[in-house]
Amino acid sequence: MVRVAEEVLAYCGNCKMDLKATVVAMRGDQVVRVQCRTCRGERAFRAPKGVIDPGKAPPPKAVTKGTSKRATRTETGEKVDHSVGAEWRKEMNHRKERPLNTYSPKMMIGIGDRIAHPTFGEGVVLKPIHPNKAEIIFEMDIKVLIVGGARTA
Ligand SMILES: [Zn+2]
Repeated sequence: MVRVAEEVLAYCGNCKMDLKATVVAMRGDQVVRVQCRTCRGERAFRAPKGVIDPGKAPPPKAVTKGTSKRATRTETGEKVDHSVGAEWRKEMNHRKERPLNTYSPKMMIGIGDRIAHPTFGEGVVLKPIHPNKAEIIFEMDIKVLIVGGARTA
């Protein structure tokens, strides 16, 4: 049985953790008032909450950490997926049935046309830019080149 002036484990609202406290007042065999040994504050007894280290308590911090980790992973994944080389390979594979035309500044182009460029190599037309340019993806980079115009499909 606990008695006044004895030591109990109690939750301290000031220290925000379970700490040793000195019993100050009892009602029957119930502890009603304690003095926290850590902050010396005297307060109504609260049963231990199982919080021994405030850093391990469930609240917001842990949640925030998890969220930021997930965000970092997403960023990394996106970088890999959207590299020009990977995009170029996908386009080349997707358009492999198309005839390969040698680039000329007078050529008429359409989306998905395969272009052989003397400097940049093989590329695929991503989109025509009015009136006489086209965005073309090559293995190393996406270029805007002069063309004759866009074919009207
Ligand atoms: Zn305390």
